Amino acid sequence: MVCRFTATARPARAGGMSGQTPPAADRDWVPALMRGWAARCPSCGSRTLFTAFLKMAPACTACGIDLQRFRADDAPAYFVIFIVGHIVVPLVLLLEKLYEPALWVHAVLWLPLSIGLSLWLLPRVKGAVIGVLWALQGRPQDD
Ligand SMILES: [Zn+2]
Repeated sequence: MVCRFTATARPARAGGMSGQTPPAADRDWVPALMRGWAARCPSCGSRTLFTAFLKMAPACTACGIDLQRFRADDAPAYFVIFIVGHIVVPLVLLLEKLYEPALWVHAVLWLPLSIGLSLWLLPRVKGAVIGVLWALQGRPQDD
C-alpha cells in the first residue's frame, strides 16, 4: 500500500528554544502517539501538551515546538465514541442476555461507565492524535 499522505510542511516557529525537534522524516509515530497519550509533548516528552483538561498549550515550554498548528478537531471524539461503544455495548448485551435486569439497572450501570470512560479517554486520545499529527506532519511522499 502506498502512502499518499502529505502535509504541507510549515517552517518551524522562529525563536525555538532548543532545536531538539527531529526532522519530519525521522519522526516515528508510535512513540509520538504514546507520548501524546501520556499528555506529553510528542517531540521532547515533557508534560507540556495541555494547559487544562482538553486545552492545548500554544507551544511546548521545554522544546519550543508550535503545538497550535496541530488540530485534532473532532477526531478524538470520534475515536472515544468508537472505543467506548465497543466496550459498553457488549457488556450491556451480555448483562441483558444473562440476567435480564430492569431498565434502571442498565441506567445505573452504563451511564456512569460511559461518561466516566469517555472523560478518562478524551485527553489521552486527543494527545495521541496530536502526537500522530506531529509525527506525520511534513513527511515526504512515498511513491
Ligand atoms: Zn516539547
